[in-house]
Amino acid sequence: MKKGQIYEGTVEKVLFPNKGQIRTEDRTITVKNGVPGQQVRFQVTKVRKGKAEGRILEVLKRASVEGEPACRHFSECGGCTWQSLPYEEQLRLKEQQIKELLEQAAGGCAWEFEGIKESPDRYGYRNKMEFSFGDGRKDGPLELGMHRRGSFYDIVTVEDCRIVDEDFRKILKATLVYFREQGISFYHKMQHTGYLRHLLVRKAAKTREILVDLVTTTQAVPKEAELLESWKAELLGLSLEGTLTGILHTRNDSLADVVQNDETAVLYGRDYFYEELLGLRFRITPFSFFQTNSCGAEVLYETARAYIGDTKARVIFDLYSGTGTIAQMLSPVADKVIGVEIVEEAVEAAKENAAQNGLTNCDFIAGDVLKVLDEIREKPDLIVLDPPRDGIHPKALKKIIDYGVERMIYISCKPTSLARDLEVLQACGYRMDKACCVDMFPWSAHVETVVLIQRKDT
Ligand code: SAH
Repeated sequence: MKKGQIYEGTVEKVLFPNKGQIRTEDRTITVKNGVPGQQVRFQVTKVRKGKAEGRILEVLKRASVEGEPACRHFSECGGCTWQSLPYEEQLRLKEQQIKELLEQAAGGCAWEFEGIKESPDRYGYRNKMEFSFGDGRKDGPLELGMHRRGSFYDIVTVEDCRIVDEDFRKILKATLVYFREQGISFYHKMQHTGYLRHLLVRKAAKTREILVDLVTTTQAVPKEAELLESWKAELLGLSLEGTLTGILHTRNDSLADVVQNDETAVLYGRDYFYEELLGLRFRITPFSFFQTNSCGAEVLYETARAYIGDTKARVIFDLYSGTGTIAQMLSPVADKVIGVEIVEEAVEAAKENAAQNGLTNCDFIAGDVLKVLDEIREKPDLIVLDPPRDGIHPKALKKIIDYGVERMIYISCKPTSLARDLEVLQACGYRMDKACCVDMFPWSAHVETVVLIQRKDT
């Protein structure tokens, strides 16, 4: 087998998140975005000993479980992975993938797998989208949407995206039409020139409040103030189901292709919005982390709460606490909850939220978990971990283990990172007691996993 060669084969299996496995006589080829059972034509892109990587060129025969994609953008858009699979099939696939990963990590120890819980909404479930400005082909018209599947540069306008609701689509369309008419350039990632970068839209599922933030560079455009005023007027003129509570403008000149905050101006309303989860109210600022599927987050947090049970802890640590959702939810079962979060604006919001919710036993500390743990005097008797995708920094994990708590809850958005951290935990006197998946991301390959971790000697 040589790089560049073209073969045909059947996707036998898909490993988390979307690594399709095709077997030939002498090796296994990993391809992206396949569905188990699909017959495909693929090109070899990398060859290693006993293994290879390839790229699907064409689906020759669809898998028997596949149907028509629900979204017309599916073939181009890099956002979703499983649009052609019925929802039950997606659940089955994710459940099986995670079970296998955790089984390996468990290394023979007994544990209980409680399967997968579905998302309360299958469509329109997202409360946040970061759309990018760009073009779909060289020198083509301005586009606003998602990256084309497998492309770093090309953008597909996703005006019919199904994982958000109609308000998102209306705001996207109005913004695109307006800036096309005005002939405003987008930021070119190679040349570092141009103005429009991202459109951030957040809409609360419970309060229906909408926050829109236009992210641009600081490069000069003619009559910028008037340009933005008229854009704002366009949005305010839309007939929306929700309520626009803030229209913002953020300037960002960083070279990285991420939505980040350098300086934000309020063009209309306020620079935050409210969402409600499990009867608690949260103030969310544009750049604070908040679970992107609000109704799914309720299922996730309830699952975690059930694992903790009602026995009262003295001190609970909520590490990687974001806007303090978990800390506040656990407030009734602890004398004190301490949240640690690196984004200062999220910590400020968490403090305010706790006060607004009438909770007096929650403390939030801004900083890196790795450092802050050395500064906290209290010792926890229960630790909840909800780290970002990369998992827990090995040195931070060591400090966490050194507390010697009886139980920990690990919530993970990336089971491969979870599996890696679990192996360390198991080598250090802990074992996985039970685990459950919660599907927060229908049509995509992602899934949340909640694990109860127990000290082996208890
Ligand atoms: N528990 C929260 C947030 C989970 S997302 C919720 O359920 O909403 C992970 C959070 O970890 C993000 O808010 C991110 O800003 C924060 N984070 C990332 N690296 C961190 C670090 N080294 N120390 C502390 N917080 C960190």
